[in-house]
Amino acid sequence: MTDCIFCKIIDGEIPSYTVYEDDVVKAFLDISQTTPGHTLVIPKKHVQDMFTYDEDLAAAVFARLPKIARAVKASNPDIKGMNIINNNGEVAYQSVFHSHIHLVPRYSEDDEFAIDFTDNTEKYDDAKYKAIQESIVSKMEDEK
Ligand code: AMP
Ligand code: ZN
Repeated sequence: MTDCIFCKIIDGEIPSYTVYEDDVVKAFLDISQTTPGHTLVIPKKHVQDMFTYDEDLAAAVFARLPKIARAVKASNPDIKGMNIINNNGEVAYQSVFHSHIHLVPRYSEDDEFAIDFTDNTEKYDDAKYKAIQESIVSKMEDEK
C-alpha cells in the first residue's frame, strides 16, 4: 500500500531498527519504546487488522511470535515478563492501519506500561452472559 508507513518500512523507504525479518514478517523496535525493547511484529502482506487476516496468514505470523518474544526477553536479564498486544480499530487504540503485534517487555509492576481490565462480574447474571454467548456463537456459523 503506497501511503502506509509500515509498508514503507518493509520496503526500506523508511528506516527501522529491525531485529528479525523473513519472507512473512518483519520485527522492529517501536519508535516509542514504551519499555526498553518494545518491538512490533508486522506481516509483510498489508492487512489492516485482525478482521482481515485469513487463517494461513494468521498461522504464519503468529507462529513466529514465540521465537521473537524469546529473543527480546533474552536480550535483557531485567525483563521479567511481556505483554503481547494487538490493537484493532481506532477505538481500540490502533493508530497505524497495517496490522501489528506489540511485544512490550515488562520489568516490574511499576514500569511504564499499564493495562487495566475492569472487572464487571458483579453486573452480570447468567442471562446476560448467555445472550452475549449466543450472539457470538450465531455469528460463528458465518465463519464456517
Ligand atoms: P498502535 O497504536 O497499536 O496502532 O501502534 C502503532 C505503533 O507504531 C505506535 O506504538 C508507534 O510508536 C509505532 N510507530 C509509528 N511509526 C513508527 C516508526 N516509523 N517506526 C517504529 N514505530 C513506529
Ligand atoms: Zn501497509
